[in-house]
Amino acid sequence: MKPSSPTLATLALLAVSAAMSPAMAQEQVLNIYSARHYPSDELMYGAFSKATGIQIKRVDADDAGILARLKAEGAASPADVILLVDASRLWRAQVDGLFMPIKSPLLEQAIPAHLRAQADANGGTAWFGLSTRARVVVFDKLKYKKSDFDSYEKLADPQFKGQLCIRSGSHPYNLSLFGAMTEHMGAAQTEAWLKGLVGNMARSPKGGDTDQIKGVASGECGMAVTNSYYLARLMRSTQAADVAVTEKIGVVFPNQSSWGTHMNVAGGAVAKHAKHSANAIKFLEYLASPQAQNHFANGNNEWPAAQGVRFDNPALQAMTGGSFKSELLPISAVGQNQTKVQQMLDRVGFK
Ligand code: FE
Repeated sequence: MKPSSPTLATLALLAVSAAMSPAMAQEQVLNIYSARHYPSDELMYGAFSKATGIQIKRVDADDAGILARLKAEGAASPADVILLVDASRLWRAQVDGLFMPIKSPLLEQAIPAHLRAQADANGGTAWFGLSTRARVVVFDKLKYKKSDFDSYEKLADPQFKGQLCIRSGSHPYNLSLFGAMTEHMGAAQTEAWLKGLVGNMARSPKGGDTDQIKGVASGECGMAVTNSYYLARLMRSTQAADVAVTEKIGVVFPNQSSWGTHMNVAGGAVAKHAKHSANAIKFLEYLASPQAQNHFANGNNEWPAAQGVRFDNPALQAMTGGSFKSELLPISAVGQNQTKVQQMLDRVGFK
């Protein structure tokens, strides 16, 4: 027997390691950095661990905090999966090189092309939208009717001077909406529109989306812009104060007769320096499953991003009457416009 010949035991070991998938080779752990701060998400993480035996460790922070932490940690970062709640932030993280491009036939089939971001020419995907939210207009039912606000363009109409409540223009939800408007109307027209919005403001931007809805209910403003799930949350609340708010307001899904209502995404990606990338892909695939997509729809009042998922949410049903036309812009193009949009905001004095 030659000394260099492998023993039977070595051959057996080689055969075992060759048969091991990368997932099996990795320890059964997954580190998630999440900007999703919705308590109902816990159930989803639990279901994944139970089904796979993969133990989840989670770091919760807001989007900006997560990006800063990933940059500070660099290659030593323990993060495997990153969950962020806005297209502008996802785009920023992609450009900053914080994501590992992945290929997953399952995710590519489930998530429509306009809701995911191509990473490179090799066909890898940088991130996937996992749920969608509409940016809608709410209005004072006593003063106005739906047709007054059936397009975003109308929010700038001088007849609504002193009526608009909206959060800061620099908030990612608005940067994404304005980035989409730039795609639809071009930069010059969008800047003129933004100037019109500033001219119509009831007050200097302050607070979050729920504060804008409440501003309409209290009579401080006649119209406001909000993400759909904040409204759905109030509609599903049993608190008397919330019920009173929703009774005073109407809601419009703008631009049904043109390009459709602006949609934003919450999404996920594999971290650039993930040590458990196979587990991370498995987790993102789980988030695109009908079970998890239903959770997004019912737990946080979002729409599933995956195609063909049936769900049942009374508030979303009531808000839309069943269906509506949503914008089909590539969501990655929306994020790309944010620097340009911020410059416009500065020029027109939109705080
Ligand atoms: Fe939000």
